[in-house]
Amino acid sequence: MSSRARAQEPIEHGTVRGWRQHNRRHEPACLPCIEAKRTDNNAPRPPASTSKLGWNEGRTTREITLSTQNSPVVALCTVDGCGTEATKPRPAPHMVTVSVRGSSEPPRWYCPGRCRAIGKALADIRAIPTTREGTA
Ligand SMILES: [Zn+2]
Ligand SMILES: [Zn+2]
Repeated sequence: MSSRARAQEPIEHGTVRGWRQHNRRHEPACLPCIEAKRTDNNAPRPPASTSKLGWNEGRTTREITLSTQNSPVVALCTVDGCGTEATKPRPAPHMVTVSVRGSSEPPRWYCPGRCRAIGKALADIRAIPTTREGTA
């Protein structure tokens, strides 16, 4: 008798359903699934450079992009001092600095791991010379 049948249903990649399956398994969704989800949301595509932000932890690049536009960096984390500029004293012993050359983001303190990765991505985004907000 085989009883493993319902252990792992195959992920339907490239569909919103597949995207949810990725999330349910706490694994990063693959690009086709992220695309499907984005299409489903009817959201405008952010310009280029999305693929380099290979995200974990269920956050899509779109969410990250929106958060950079709508909220300060510190809103990503509730830990005191996370996201503060590195000109200030280290907020907590375990925190690390993130600084990206050529970014308009100044070096900041972040929790290691997820916050650090997010901070890096934010700095990276601001290092990319985009002209989508209407240039002169
Ligand atoms: Zn997938
Ligand atoms: Zn944090």
